[in-house]
Amino acid sequence: MTPSAPRRHTRHTALHLACAMVLGIAASAAHANGAASAHGTVVQEPAHAPAPASAKPDVHAPAAKAPVAAQRTPGDPQLVVDRISAALSKQSDQNKLHVLVGDEPLVPKPQADPHAAPARKARSAHGAVQPHGYTKARAAALAGHAAPSAHGGEVHWEYEGEHGPEHWGQMKSDFNACSSGKRQSPIHIQSTDTAPGPAEPIEFHYSGSGGSVVNNGHTIQVDPMGHNWIKVRGSVYQLVQFHFHHPAEEKVNYKGFAMVAHLVHKNEAGQLAVVAVLMDVGTNNTFLQKVWTRMPLDTQDRVPLPDELLDLNELLPSDQRYYQFMGSLTTPPCSEGVLWMVMKQPVTLGADQLKLFTKLFPMNARPVQAVNGRLVREAM
Ligand SMILES: [Zn+2]
Repeated sequence: MTPSAPRRHTRHTALHLACAMVLGIAASAAHANGAASAHGTVVQEPAHAPAPASAKPDVHAPAAKAPVAAQRTPGDPQLVVDRISAALSKQSDQNKLHVLVGDEPLVPKPQADPHAAPARKARSAHGAVQPHGYTKARAAALAGHAAPSAHGGEVHWEYEGEHGPEHWGQMKSDFNACSSGKRQSPIHIQSTDTAPGPAEPIEFHYSGSGGSVVNNGHTIQVDPMGHNWIKVRGSVYQLVQFHFHHPAEEKVNYKGFAMVAHLVHKNEAGQLAVVAVLMDVGTNNTFLQKVWTRMPLDTQDRVPLPDELLDLNELLPSDQRYYQFMGSLTTPPCSEGVLWMVMKQPVTLGADQLKLFTKLFPMNARPVQAVNGRLVREAM
């Protein structure tokens, strides 16, 4: 998208890729979990994910979980190397796929590699058939946002109009969960639906990271390179990417928020865990400023970040209690099986910071979805 033209959707291609990426992640997750996904495969995705469509065995998931890796600690340098290697090899496969697919959304084979995603430099102008482009898409997908696709022609979704949220489920079979799913995100969290009580703290292990920031057509997304992971419910989830929505997709007791950051993580089984950090307008956010300073202005535009520039600890609220529930990606393919953790305490961003984002994305939030009796745990 162009900087000033908030066209929310001009860049269909970009969008697709993002979606694809998302999907890929989702798909992987699904396989891993064994959950059923929208496509008939399992669904587990983080916030937005894509679809993984293919029912083929997930290459990723398996790869991701190498036995060896399992024995290492997340911060182990060798583990990182392994991940990068795995990512690169996947990338190769994807490239092939890309060529074969042609006009189809890349989405189909989602591979999600959370790790990989950070992917390097995929920059193509519209999803071109570039290896890197594919990677980028993947990353986007992971994030829940789409990845641009190689060419137009793919299914492209938006936040309003004929390609808006109410139509996502009918746009493509892989997107069926968007309309038929019963555990969709985002949701309106209300005290009447929550189960207050003790909850384990989320162990955050974030550190200074570089990487790159991309405008994938649906949002601004950061694909970090570094050692960033969380541990919750006995599982280690690596940070794959994080991105933003305006307004925040979540609502809490009838209150809306100006923005939300979705930190998308994935464990070795391919399951997604998204940490949502809500933001109200107030004091300038120093963490956001570092990203906004390098804001990519065009769809598919990607800007590298200095090493160790970003430390997500700076974005987290001081009170780290949260709401926890199962949901889905908030972008097509809307895969379910995603573990959501919404931080209860919002942080702030400056009015000018919000304005810059809205120039690019006037509105990129999916409406709240039915809770359908889901239990929402409220950490006290
Ligand atoms: Zn999101």
